[in-house]
Amino acid sequence: MGTPVNIIVGSHVWIEDPELAWIDGQVLKITGQNVEVQASNGKKITANLSRLYPKDMEAPAGGVDDMTKLSYLHEPGVLENLKIRYELNEIYTYTGNILIAINPFQRLPHIYDSHMMQQYKGAPFGELSPHVFAVADVAYRAMINEGKSNSILVSGESGAGKTETTKMLMRYLAFLGGRTATEGRTVEQQVLESNPVLEAFGNAKTVRNNNSSRFGKFVEIQFDKQGRISGAAIRTYLLERSRVCQISNPERNYHCFYLLCAAPQEEVEKYKLGNPKKFHYLNQSSCYELVGVSDAHDYLATRRAMDIVGINAKDQGKEVDSSVPKDDNAKFHLKTASELLMCDLVALEDALCKRVMITPEEVIKRSLDPQSALVSRDGLAKTLYSRLFDWLVDKINSSIGQDPNSKSLIGVLDIYGFESFKTNSFEQFCINFTNEKLQQHFNQHVFKMEQEEYTKEEIDWSYIEFVDNQDVLDLIEKKPGGIVALLDEACMFPKSTHETFSNKLYQTFKSHKRFIKPKLSRTDFTIAHYAGEVLYQSDQFLDKNKDYVVPEHQDLLSASKCSFVAGLFPPLPEASKSSKFSSIGSRFKLQLQQLMETLNSTEPHYIRCVKPNNLLKPAIFENANIMQQLRCGGVLEAIRISCAGYPTRRAFFEFINRFGLLAPELLEGNYDEKTTCQKILDKKGLKGFQIGKTKVFLRAGQMAELDARRAEV
Ligand code: ATP
Ligand code: MG
Repeated sequence: MGTPVNIIVGSHVWIEDPELAWIDGQVLKITGQNVEVQASNGKKITANLSRLYPKDMEAPAGGVDDMTKLSYLHEPGVLENLKIRYELNEIYTYTGNILIAINPFQRLPHIYDSHMMQQYKGAPFGELSPHVFAVADVAYRAMINEGKSNSILVSGESGAGKTETTKMLMRYLAFLGGRTATEGRTVEQQVLESNPVLEAFGNAKTVRNNNSSRFGKFVEIQFDKQGRISGAAIRTYLLERSRVCQISNPERNYHCFYLLCAAPQEEVEKYKLGNPKKFHYLNQSSCYELVGVSDAHDYLATRRAMDIVGINAKDQGKEVDSSVPKDDNAKFHLKTASELLMCDLVALEDALCKRVMITPEEVIKRSLDPQSALVSRDGLAKTLYSRLFDWLVDKINSSIGQDPNSKSLIGVLDIYGFESFKTNSFEQFCINFTNEKLQQHFNQHVFKMEQEEYTKEEIDWSYIEFVDNQDVLDLIEKKPGGIVALLDEACMFPKSTHETFSNKLYQTFKSHKRFIKPKLSRTDFTIAHYAGEVLYQSDQFLDKNKDYVVPEHQDLLSASKCSFVAGLFPPLPEASKSSKFSSIGSRFKLQLQQLMETLNSTEPHYIRCVKPNNLLKPAIFENANIMQQLRCGGVLEAIRISCAGYPTRRAFFEFINRFGLLAPELLEGNYDEKTTCQKILDKKGLKGFQIGKTKVFLRAGQMAELDARRAEV
């Protein structure tokens, strides 16, 4: 990004630092390509000239609200600008039309109140400080004026603030598109109240976030001709199922379990609840309470939200807590579970502890060993929970209702960001696959926007190169032969193991640029994602890819006397009973395809959420950590694309104000602004810049070059 030009002894520069990512300093000595820098923390650092970036000594003290206003657009400049603003509690900054939002980890006064909403309503983009409301407003105006659907894509790592941002966007859209006379339950109220319901059942405390969404969601808000909200649809992606029966310190299970345990006494008795410490699925972790959260209060709030979104009291009551406490009273608990699920006690015991084997001669009931019985129990709990979650989403959708006449909509996407942990399994694979898809969409969009700006200014942009990540996507999703397809093949072949699956990958992708077989492993594999390399452990890929409900469980629950439970398990058509395997990976791939189709038919807007530190505390800005997130979120890529073209643009008059003194003789001549700019640039011997209709377009580094000349004057 930008070539270091005119770096001389005494120049102010940015230099790489292992701890701070970038540190500023002043050049002491230059020997060939080696530069010695006196860094501002007192250290002397030596680096290659090509690794230095000029520091803009005229950057405004409070930073700039849009990165494209930076005179020197490069990594350290971007980071410094965000830091300065974050210290001033300015958590929002634009990069062109991407909004970067840094989680403040504290409630900032007034920035989301109704007065603020009023201010942003209809204000031209860029006139007020950067804000989520401004993005929502642009999307809404574009929809009204052009009759075109818009989408707002919110991304970032866990705890970065995606869900909070999404809720703010939805509140603002409800404010713009709500009816003034609010009587009873309005569509916009239902849309807003779907959030607490989904959060109760789909969010949990994790190491990274006390209220972490364990699913992805796309909320499609439909508008009528007058721009009023007329319907909505929620699509969810990949709920984390394993959490239902497996948690560890300091995490929690899904919020709803703790809320239920904190229900009024009468309900606790009715549903045989009690202290969460009694339940095996909850007491695997010693964390039960969240600081600043009252489960009893949230229980009532969730019930109220359910009322509003249209889940009636009868269905709310049929809520089943399927946790099975582990102690000696196995029979007692079995009875409790059978009563709550309203199914036959013996049938439940059989479904949990026995498997039916059908041989040509006879039907045999075989008992499971204790370990397999536990797996069976957990399988039942997970299936029950994920069906319940899907039911909730369907219910909310049918109750809010879809507007068949709606011509335009605004979609809001709140989906997990790129993940790379110590161990990465099938979940990370799917999540990173999602992010590759979104990254491609993002790059294409940024690239298009750049081109549009150039076309508008009538300048030539033909040689700008564009690096695509299609090769990673092919590696993952190509049919046949991509990883998802090979995984399905392995799942269908009874003798497959994760070793045979890994070997197949190694053979197939031996020479694929994005696929690496680690030297010391026989089952791991690495994918070179756009955001960096991720090492995946393949051992659970096969199991996790199989969406398989044990037929005994299916039969048991579809026979439940509780219509709610039975309804979650509609009887399967005979044909599909025999084909036991249904692929989660392929289904997810299809869901992603549909999502991309939807997004492609909209005008996108991007919000990149950034988590400033891993302590979840205010006022701590971790440079290297943030840099990595900007990389994963494509912000640096967007800047790179922009740098490949003409990253610095200045209106003619601004340019003349700054550089007129390089050619004072011109100012006396009677030239128009455009010609003056051209002549200044020619005089200084610059090459490759372009003059548009209203602006000067400079190549990366040229602004710094001109500044250096100015210093010589
Ligand atoms: P996950 O991927 O785990 O779901 P997320 O990106 O959705 O994470 P959020 O749940 O939105 O993260 O945010 C985490 C926490 O950060 C919130 O619970 C809240 O405490 C704080 N937070 C986020 N955004 C803001 C904000 N704009 N103002 C104040 N606090 C915020
Ligand atoms: Mg979230």
